Amino acid sequence: MRTGVSVEEARALVLEATPVLEPERVTAAEALGRVLAEAVVSGRTLPPADVSAMDGYAVRAADLARASAGAPVALRVVYEVAAGGAPERPLGSGEAARIFTGAPIPPGADAVVPQEEAQAAGEAARFRAPAAPGACVRPAGEDVREGERVLAPGERLGPAQIGMLAALGRTLVAVHRRPRVALLSGGDELVEPDEPAPPGRIVSSNSYTLAAQCREAGAEPAYLGIARDRPEALERLLRAGLHADVLVSSAGVSVGDHDYVRPVLEKLGCRLVFWGVRMKPGFPLAFGTFAEGRGPLVFGLPGNPVSAMVTFELFVRPALRKLAGHRALFRPTLEAVLDEPLRKSPGRAHFVRVALARRRDGIHAAPTGNQSSGVLRSMVLAHGLLVFAADAAELPAGARVRIHVIDPEWLAASEADA
Ligand code: AMP
Ligand code: MG
Repeated sequence: MRTGVSVEEARALVLEATPVLEPERVTAAEALGRVLAEAVVSGRTLPPADVSAMDGYAVRAADLARASAGAPVALRVVYEVAAGGAPERPLGSGEAARIFTGAPIPPGADAVVPQEEAQAAGEAARFRAPAAPGACVRPAGEDVREGERVLAPGERLGPAQIGMLAALGRTLVAVHRRPRVALLSGGDELVEPDEPAPPGRIVSSNSYTLAAQCREAGAEPAYLGIARDRPEALERLLRAGLHADVLVSSAGVSVGDHDYVRPVLEKLGCRLVFWGVRMKPGFPLAFGTFAEGRGPLVFGLPGNPVSAMVTFELFVRPALRKLAGHRALFRPTLEAVLDEPLRKSPGRAHFVRVALARRRDGIHAAPTGNQSSGVLRSMVLAHGLLVFAADAAELPAGARVRIHVIDPEWLAASEADA
């Protein structure tokens, strides 16, 4: 086991040990946010035939070559073709067909004149201008051709991809399985949020934050409960989580007399890869695996609410995304101007919770008040995590800093104010 690794080393060790989960078949309707595990090759041409893009008249463009306002050309309207219908017969010279959006173009016709540009006149229609061949016609295969590769493995399925699957008749699709995460909390002081909290007890909020972080990352959390600070209690709950893809515990992973997570994990056969990451918040983070993948990836997160959240962000979330087949594992980062000076002693990287604001001279970052690892409010107010590098001691106001944007809504909403 390695101790006191850097954030970068820890991330690399986690991702190296993280596999990609096997595919499963789901309906396209349920596939939102999932990652495709197969290439999708079209068995169809879309649209399947040349179809009209407008309500109007299907014509032979050559018939209207001399049409003008002074000398309109009249064509005989010989039948009508509606969306979903079929042309009765090919159009001959001097003939037109009434046609509606989405209806197949009759053989012989090569253009559609929108109805606003024609005048109905009994059995005929009059045209005051030429029509270019192909005008208002959606050619067969304009969208997709049969045999064409439309979606690639590794692609995330959003609404457009799901609509495309439907258009291709692919109602079942292979996607990577969602990671299942077993969550547990530990500590004699903890009570569940819906229980009375007598003095001296702490409400266990971590199971709620961590379950929400799992869901936000596309994983399925299952909460196992609170393990009291006794090795047997902890062992019983940890054992219950061994069938998950990922086991996440919070607290009891430090060096206190009641911190049993590490020895109990080892007793269960978990091989600890590292313990302790040179960061703040979140130093006492443990990560382990089971030989030959015969057990979950195990994260022993620190108990402090902010430490648990930040270490989940930096290490668990990318692992969950890799398991689920994603290519992009990390949050977007951006550069911002720091509004207040920051100081620390060199040695650990600090992840300072910051609120972001878009101003005329760029994006500004301001720390969200008290940065203690017990102050969950610092996360509530945060849009991002500012990286204060391990070896640095000072960041003056006005410094350009790198931010991991942890609130995707901020990116979306802030564009509107700009
Ligand atoms: P520990 O890692 O066990 O030393 O816990 C560190 C701090 O985190 C203590 O103040 C605990 O009360 C607090 N803590 C541990 N687990 C939770 C939890 N599930 N929810 C909220 N706070 C917690
Ligand atoms: Mg504890």
